[in-house]
Amino acid sequence: MLKRANNAYVITGAGISTSADIPDLEHLSSSIDISSETALKNDPQQYYAEFHKLFIDPVFENGPTDSHRFLAKLEEDDLIKGIVTTNIDFLHELAGSKNVADIWSNLNRNHYLKCGRIFPIETLKSAVPTCPICGGLLIPDPVYRHIGIDENAYLRANQWMKQADLVITIGSNGYYDNIPNDINVININPKRNHFDQRAQLTIHSKSDLVFDQIYDYL
Ligand SMILES: [Zn+2]
Repeated sequence: MLKRANNAYVITGAGISTSADIPDLEHLSSSIDISSETALKNDPQQYYAEFHKLFIDPVFENGPTDSHRFLAKLEEDDLIKGIVTTNIDFLHELAGSKNVADIWSNLNRNHYLKCGRIFPIETLKSAVPTCPICGGLLIPDPVYRHIGIDENAYLRANQWMKQADLVITIGSNGYYDNIPNDINVININPKRNHFDQRAQLTIHSKSDLVFDQIYDYL
């Protein structure tokens, strides 16, 4: 199906990043409300300690998974055209993917609250990142948006879906209604999810294992 497709796109969700120990934002259990700007302002030390533990440390220590790297290779080989993701971890871009629509924004966009300057993901490595110029606190864009849709990325993703003739969903439960009715869907997820009923091909397995097996074949 992938070799036959002319415009294959991939939709990824939390499931692709769990092998890097990055949690699912929607089902996060945390001592503080990680999506709260107030929590960040009230106690920056505590907030960033938790944010590091949950996101920053796994992103930099575990890095992109085999699946992220495989998808970057598929794009390089022109077998897929782009990736729509509900993840904020920026791992697709860190793996080398170029066409990524991060519909909930990502950790590579961070605002300083006082002056509005914007800085990339590396800035988050500081224990409590503060602006070297105005001293303001840094807030990751997904938190700034209160885990809301990034309109530009969302419009881009919708445009891609209009061109798609194949969609591969990986560890995802989101963006379901945006897939056109008349195209093939491959769903890769260890457990049953609602893409199963829509997919022409369902693989109940972790994507790292699936891609290890089909890499040589492709
Ligand atoms: Zn500043």
